[in-house]
Amino acid sequence: MKMSIAKNIENIQNELPPSVLLVAISKYKPVEDIKEAYSCGLRAFGESKAQEMLAKYEQLPSDIEWHFIGHLQTNKVKYIAPFVHLIHGVDSLKLLKAINKEAEKNNRVIDCLLQFHVAKEDTKFGLNFNEATELLNSQEFISMNNVRVVGIMGMASYSSDAQLILNEFAHLKQIFEQLKQLYFSKNNTFKELSMGMSGDYKYAIEEGSTMIRVGSAIFGNRN
Ligand SMILES: *Cc1c(COP(=O)(O)O)cnc(C)c1O
Repeated sequence: MKMSIAKNIENIQNELPPSVLLVAISKYKPVEDIKEAYSCGLRAFGESKAQEMLAKYEQLPSDIEWHFIGHLQTNKVKYIAPFVHLIHGVDSLKLLKAINKEAEKNNRVIDCLLQFHVAKEDTKFGLNFNEATELLNSQEFISMNNVRVVGIMGMASYSSDAQLILNEFAHLKQIFEQLKQLYFSKNNTFKELSMGMSGDYKYAIEEGSTMIRVGSAIFGNRN
């Protein structure tokens, strides 16, 4: 049977609480696929390459919210700064500075999520709790006027162990709550917990996700 983007979206939305945003991860997929998902009502799309996101932005309706989900290099921020809706994977002060600078040039404030590393796989991406508090305490961060940290993002281990995945999502939720209490208690804009992908979004929702990033379960496998 032929895979149907519309059917896939319907299946996911049927089990999605209204408080959880479905971000359709369209990386490496053609604009035709995005148009099909758009016609089903989706407006939030995620890309992992700055130039690819810019090219798609230029070809597609202007009411799409573009989410950047991959590792963003500082010299690529300029491509997406005029229009990006949310940058999910911020894991250094250096990157935050670059985003602040480009946002200022565009006369806007760019919303960001701090990325945390909680999974077992080794990766150089993602902060731990101490690194995050160091960043949030720094005078440089405090004086930035064109970025706004609105929550955190993370990934669970690539595993078939449901309990491990649930524990890692619970850990992310705990980090979110701690940061909220320590740094954003008077601030209603710190509210997003971006966690859950095609293989594990059901667990992420159980543990309090507010945004799931789903690619292959909507668009099929990427080559
Ligand atoms: C590619 C990607 C996704 C989507 O992955 P699927 O397994 O296809 O749903 C989500 N989040 C990040 C950070 C990604 O790089």
